[in-house]
Amino acid sequence: MRMKEDHILNGQLKPGYNWQISTENQFISGYTIHQTTNDTTTLKTHMESLKESLGKMPDTLVADAGYGSLENYEYLENNDVEAFVKYSYFHKEQTTKWKTDPYRTENLQYYEDYDYYICPMGQQMPFIKEQIRITDNGYKQINRLYQAQNCYDCPMKETCNKGKGNRRIEINHSLNRYKSIIRERLSSERGRKYRSQRPVDVEAVFGIIKGNKSYRRFLLRGLEKVEIEAGLLALSHKLSKIAVRN
Ligand code: SF4
Repeated sequence: MRMKEDHILNGQLKPGYNWQISTENQFISGYTIHQTTNDTTTLKTHMESLKESLGKMPDTLVADAGYGSLENYEYLENNDVEAFVKYSYFHKEQTTKWKTDPYRTENLQYYEDYDYYICPMGQQMPFIKEQIRITDNGYKQINRLYQAQNCYDCPMKETCNKGKGNRRIEINHSLNRYKSIIRERLSSERGRKYRSQRPVDVEAVFGIIKGNKSYRRFLLRGLEKVEIEAGLLALSHKLSKIAVRN
């Protein structure tokens, strides 16, 4: 994994365990250990584990952009979990620079009835083919490719299309649908409250364990043993929280 501890300062990957926790009011309600480098692929397993230990799926999930993917949004919707899960560029897309950039794929006009986009020069970009992407979890994502018909003499080519041929864009309409739902949800009063609460809730727990308790490495090796060690850590965290409250 890419570690924050990077003494040689060369971004070297190191062996490690990916510990995922869910919290509520800084109490750890569930944890899972993964051997994957990114967080996106851990969400489903983690939620299934939560469901098993709590007896039901949580009604709501708040998570950062590391978990925002089509696969996860679809999974949460199918399990009736209200997702307050950011996607990449959630914050950037709200800047004036982003909103006023006519070359951004997200800002191109789409005509659903005819299934084509309009490029900044006013040219149609019709659908040309589907592109299948398989995630690390084996989830099949079907994207649609659209292409401008003639970029060669375009005065905007330098800025708009760095590629050699006619400009292509890759779109996933389902993901775009989820993004607009999530955008609206995260911008609501409840969404803004959850967004400011998330770091105080879950990040603080990591801060207490890694910073206050100086627990920066698992002592054991092997998935099974590390799961037990993580469980003991979660339990000790819970007990110390209860002790502080009392
Ligand atoms: S480079 Fe191609 S896609 Fe971009 S504005 Fe010109 S014609 Fe349109």
